[in-house]
Amino acid sequence: MSKSGLASIENAIGGARVVSRSTRTQGVFNPATGEQTAVLPLSSAAEVAEAIAAAKAAFPAWRDTPPLKRARMMFRFKELLSAHADDIARAISAEHGKTHDDALGEVARGIEVVEFACGIPHLLKGEFARNVGPAIDSYSDRQPLGVVAGITPFNFPAMVPLWMYPIAVACGNTFVLKPSERDPSAVMVVYDLFRKSGFPDGVLNVVHGDKEAVDVLLTHPDVKAVSFVGSTPIAEYVYTTGTAHGKRVQALGGAKNHMIVMPDADMDQAADALMGAGYGSAGERCMAISVAVPIGEDTADRLVEKLVPRVQALKIGPATDREAEMGPLVTEAHMRKVLGYIDQGVKEGAELLVDGRGFSLQGYENGYFVGGTLFDRVTRDMTIYREEIFGPVLSVVRAKGYEEALSLINEHEYGNGTAIFTRDGDAARAFADRIEVGMVGINVPIPVPVAYFSFGGWKRSLFGDHSIYGAEGVRFNTRLKTVTTRWPAGIKDGAVYTFPNME
Ligand code: NAD
Repeated sequence: MSKSGLASIENAIGGARVVSRSTRTQGVFNPATGEQTAVLPLSSAAEVAEAIAAAKAAFPAWRDTPPLKRARMMFRFKELLSAHADDIARAISAEHGKTHDDALGEVARGIEVVEFACGIPHLLKGEFARNVGPAIDSYSDRQPLGVVAGITPFNFPAMVPLWMYPIAVACGNTFVLKPSERDPSAVMVVYDLFRKSGFPDGVLNVVHGDKEAVDVLLTHPDVKAVSFVGSTPIAEYVYTTGTAHGKRVQALGGAKNHMIVMPDADMDQAADALMGAGYGSAGERCMAISVAVPIGEDTADRLVEKLVPRVQALKIGPATDREAEMGPLVTEAHMRKVLGYIDQGVKEGAELLVDGRGFSLQGYENGYFVGGTLFDRVTRDMTIYREEIFGPVLSVVRAKGYEEALSLINEHEYGNGTAIFTRDGDAARAFADRIEVGMVGINVPIPVPVAYFSFGGWKRSLFGDHSIYGAEGVRFNTRLKTVTTRWPAGIKDGAVYTFPNME
């Protein structure tokens, strides 16, 4: 409990829930009402070092725990997550603001990764070859790295951490998680379930904080790898700093996802897809579609005609309103940033068809709400086109032809997700082939790969060599060892000074 009478959010170090000793704190708010609900101490460098030490101490026994045993704990974790999905979703919505059903969807996608991690005994199996030389055998396997750290964003406070640590610990690593400081509570609900599943002390540690905590994780010699998800400037910083300190780093960044609408697309389907992908979760998804690219003036007119009434009719409300299709933005600062982008769009000459500024909800006047916003005739030089807004703002960029739309996407600095809506299989196939984006949807607006594929963008949406979760997650969290064996009976020669050719 803090001096203000509000609960202080705890860290979890070496199996114990502990209140941080830090005097630097930050408020946690309910974005629907603007009320402060908790106090978050921002952990000191010394506390982060304690968490790393706890993870390091847990590593030797955990790496030697048979993968099957680790998998059985993971199965229990999966069962508990499913049983408590509602509690986790409520914790997410209370601090993030997304609707309950949306939060449940987030939990479900997190559970998928835990299900994948349950298969770890099979995933860690290596390769064996007999007689690579006379009486010489070779085998390879994937071994854990040691202490792995995760740094996560606000927009999926339960799911993104679950992209990381289930696979890391299933592989035999121990983990230190630094969640988003804006909505830190859902992680702790999930942490308690993780502990109940039987994982030993120190296998998963959670330290809340900001840059000070992150910088320790990026520079400490006992951290071997860092998974990061967040905005591009911080992703780049995490990647350059972490790799300069000898760590393996995967850093997933921001996005500006385009959806091409071909003239032959079903316009109702395309408009509905844009509504869900543009305004779901108030646009605070790295896979949100923020740019619609209709091909040709006629397609653009037909699409805009369908979109305007839909955007005007968006049901906006707090997460407790089960009818709401979209909630508030995460913080007041973020709301102001998004409103600033709308002002900027108007100033730069985009046509504002639906204006979400000035939206107010009775009983929630202090909430961080922005209404659904739609811009038409946005051009590639405008700030609202170039930058990630991360709010309920959809831009229509009219393209004369398919090639123009393709180059628009390929020339954008981000390359996270994209989609095309069409009935033309040839066009769709060529699009998937030529587009420089990591995740592509054909008539699927938010093509987030399932857990047994991997998630990752291209260009400035991902720094590092590995996408996250799936087989890529196993590769990132392990290193390959290859052993070549011969028994004394097979040794025929004395000393050999030439390069061994196994003959
Ligand atoms: P953010 O970059 O502000 O924060 C992410 C993490 O970095 C947080 O834990 C934060 O504490 C830490 N951080 C912030 N500033 C830092 C600094 N100066 N030094 C060190 N650490 C720092 O991101 P956010 O606003 O929480 O999340 C939204 C962003 O995340 C969007 O850009 C979105 O596109 C992106 N995102 C990307 C993916 C993906 O998979 N590519 C998924 C989700 C979110």
